[in-house]
Amino acid sequence: MTVIGITACRQLEDYRQSILHVGGEPHTLDASMTIEQALTGIEGLMLTGGGDVAPSLYGETPHATVEAAEPGRDAFEIALVKEARMRKLPIFAICRGVQVLNVACGGTLVQDIPSQLKGAGPHSFTAPPNDSYSFAHEVWVDKDSLLSTLMKERLVDESVDVNSRHHQAVKDVAPGFVVSATAPDGVIEAIEDPSARFCLGVQWHPENFFRTGEFRALFEGFLGASQKI
Ligand code: MN
Repeated sequence: MTVIGITACRQLEDYRQSILHVGGEPHTLDASMTIEQALTGIEGLMLTGGGDVAPSLYGETPHATVEAAEPGRDAFEIALVKEARMRKLPIFAICRGVQVLNVACGGTLVQDIPSQLKGAGPHSFTAPPNDSYSFAHEVWVDKDSLLSTLMKERLVDESVDVNSRHHQAVKDVAPGFVVSATAPDGVIEAIEDPSARFCLGVQWHPENFFRTGEFRALFEGFLGASQKI
């Protein structure tokens, strides 16, 4: 079985289920581990959702709305990304994960979409819980991207509906990465490194759909890339 390291978070079960549903073996990685311990035996790295990355890590002072992640997560996850990229491990990053990935690789974030991006639509759907599983807005996918290749069965005119639970987003894309999806209001919804076998981050929560499989192709593609050749 292909072993996928998943960073610990409060809503871990849907990420675990998404990997189990495509035949992978999830291992939880938490910030008490050393990077060497965390990556031993891991064939792919999944970065999960959670609080905000400390703005000091990309050279800004915090906006009033910034809510920090659990202590230690920023440093642990950024070090994980750097080492995983050195080892050329496939990386699939979700929500906070795409923000961690972008900052780890030298990019920056919009700290608060509602107050900092004029004209942006709503992206923060939080309650009641069932709303997290319903579609919030569409994203427009770059047709030359890995994301487009993976999602081709579901794309209609290069667009697909997604859920949305975030108040931050990628601002300056990290060097070497490209934007592979945007919301109609211009908010960046996915980035990827075209030079990597599989290094993709999405701003929405595909893991919430493991029961119905709308984004199964993303997890299948990630697992396939993580399997030893
Ligand atoms: Mn969104």
